[in-house]
Amino acid sequence: MIGGGVVGLSATVALLKQGVDARCYEPGDPMGERSIGDTRIFRLAHAYPDMVQLAGQSRALFADWSEQAGTPLIDEVGTVVSGADVATWANAMATAGAAHEVVEPGSARLRLPARTFIGPALIDPAGGIIRVDRIRTFLVEAVGDHLRQTRVDAIEETGPGVRVRSGPDADTFDAVLICAGAGTSALAAGAGIEIPSALEHHLRVSFPIRPEAPTPLQCWITEPADGVLGTYQHLAAPGRWAVGGDIDPTQVTWEGGRQAAEQASLAALTAYATEHLPFVDPTPTDQVYCTHDPDLGDGLQFARQGQVLATYGENLMKFAPLLAKTLTHACLNGSTPANAGPTAE
Ligand SMILES: Cc1cc2nc3c(=O)[nH]c(=O)nc-3n(C[C@H](O)[C@H](O)[C@H](O)COP(=O)(O)OP(=O)(O)OC[C@H]3O[C@@H](n4cnc5c(N)ncnc54)[C@H](O)[C@@H]3O)c2cc1C
Repeated sequence: MIGGGVVGLSATVALLKQGVDARCYEPGDPMGERSIGDTRIFRLAHAYPDMVQLAGQSRALFADWSEQAGTPLIDEVGTVVSGADVATWANAMATAGAAHEVVEPGSARLRLPARTFIGPALIDPAGGIIRVDRIRTFLVEAVGDHLRQTRVDAIEETGPGVRVRSGPDADTFDAVLICAGAGTSALAAGAGIEIPSALEHHLRVSFPIRPEAPTPLQCWITEPADGVLGTYQHLAAPGRWAVGGDIDPTQVTWEGGRQAAEQASLAALTAYATEHLPFVDPTPTDQVYCTHDPDLGDGLQFARQGQVLATYGENLMKFAPLLAKTLTHACLNGSTPANAGPTAE
């Protein structure tokens, strides 16, 4: 396993459970890159029926994990998606047989930090807050001393096995899975696998929640508003509301640098909160930075060359237990899982 984000740790734990002597290579803190922070949004709601179905399978596996961890890993507050695309998302949920409801802004069924917004709104009652803090504790403990705290420099097929080089050291394995987040495309290219490599800077900012806000607040994915091309929002911690979102792409380009992108994102998200979130005090308290690929949306993608399998996508936290199961199967039998979402064909 190359990469100790949520995907690599989850797959390592699943392989260990199958009796495989797996190793997970991670140079930094486990779940310290794209898996950083304490919370994410879980939702069944997606624009594609196959993704809704896969999210349902992942939800059931989260329940198993919660039982093993001895603590709930998803807080079931529900997730709301609002805006012009709601009909598409509602159709996907209907096709997949997932419970959902479409309401208008102002509905008593909504508990959001805004009184009004561009509707309609799709309520996904199975959605909620993924407790990344608890998942990290659970997975790190389960991986134990199978974590190798070192960076992988290259992966080479050597006939019967795959050599993993890390500085002066090299180990040979029956199979290798690359799930190195932003590092995946470079490592995969060395193994003859071509996957997208575009990167962009991204920021999520937290604000204090005002005492008069409805409770418990639902997670929320919204339409574009002035200054932002859409936001995702959820409880980050008790009394703290996280707002992330896409802003003008010219302000978050890789070449423009992290600092400029963070400043522009902070300004845009703070202006959005000031204008549109009356139940939030628009004074930023903390922020989470990550890189992402602007060309990938919701979707699960896989590519294989010999005994090397690479996986990539966006918003993978909600699929972590399902990916663990899928990737374990693929590593053990040499298959390539089917892509899901926009690139399924
Ligand atoms: C602010 C934010 C909000 C998000 N919101 C949501 C959400 O609401 N719902 C959702 O489902 N998802 C969400 N996501 C996305 C989700 O968190 C990520 O898709 C997921 O955590 C990615 O996990 P990963 O294991 O693929 O990558 P990462 O967590 O990035 O792990 C990859 C690891 O590989 C390591 N690595 C890189 N190169 C090498 C190398 N050469 N050798 C060894 N190791 C290497 C890195 O150090 C890193 O730790 C969000 C992400 C962010 C940052």
